[in-house]
Amino acid sequence: MTRSVSFALETIRTVAWMKEVARQARAEGRIVGLVPTMGALHQGHLSLIHRARQDCNPVIASPKEDFTKYPRSFESDLAQLSAAGVDSLFAPDGAEIYPGGFRTYVNVEGLSERLEGRSRPGHFRGVATVVLKLLEIVQPHFAYFGRKDAQQARIVQQLVCDLNLEANIVVCPIVRESDGLALSSRNAYLKSGERRAATVLYRALDAARKEIASGARDALHLQAAMRRVLDAEPLASTDYAEIVDAGTFEPVTQIRRACYALVAAFIGGTRLIDNMLIEPREGAEGDFHVSL
Ligand code: AMP
Repeated sequence: MTRSVSFALETIRTVAWMKEVARQARAEGRIVGLVPTMGALHQGHLSLIHRARQDCNPVIASPKEDFTKYPRSFESDLAQLSAAGVDSLFAPDGAEIYPGGFRTYVNVEGLSERLEGRSRPGHFRGVATVVLKLLEIVQPHFAYFGRKDAQQARIVQQLVCDLNLEANIVVCPIVRESDGLALSSRNAYLKSGERRAATVLYRALDAARKEIASGARDALHLQAAMRRVLDAEPLASTDYAEIVDAGTFEPVTQIRRACYALVAAFIGGTRLIDNMLIEPREGAEGDFHVSL
């Protein structure tokens, strides 16, 4: 028998009201979860909410950006957030979260300059600043981020550590289409030929996975394997294909500790990213477990 459960979703428009709702929940001894998402929701975002629902009550979702930028998706987002089990949506308008005279930004040095940071200058400063504000306003016990944006998740973890914040950062797996393409709001911009070509990011990572399974540990060798796949796709133009240390996001020469294989490519005019986590297998020296 299927049972439909509906949750009342409250939309919170002001910082003061959000602080009060979260303060009260904490005072009642409840576990508060925060899921920063964007407009145009997809199953990747909803997976974060489902995970938060397992650990927390209430679950508070918030767009990272001004919701008024996504007016058309707002109504359908509300219904999906509610069905997924979000209790409150914190959706302040821009002037509430960035009042006139706003001057304070936070920058996580080192981690923010490479890879996504190099291709999108200022991006991580904006993300770190708004995430810090959300963590301060809501003071959640847990905050959920997708491994799809591995560098962003790492930057948030560093921010929490450096500024002695209380939130535990939970990094959730990448949700993919059946052909491997990682879900992203940007996939909607792909034209039909491009949609097929877009699987090249996954295929490149999978080529590196196979090399690792056959014993390859040399980063240049793995990078070359990814490049070969990316270069063979006429609709793709590669931004980067790198193997980096999972802690510092600096390039490695050999896989010895936890690493990420990270790829970014333009498919037509659409820039997509994807990654694979490579971790030492416990109790099996030199052996690695790979998560796509
Ligand atoms: P965005 O829509 O890119 O701002 O993402 C909002 C949150 O959803 C971030 O924590 C992302 O990492 C996460 N996210 C986006 N796409 C996926 C995906 N395919 N699988 C898992 N998490 C995702």
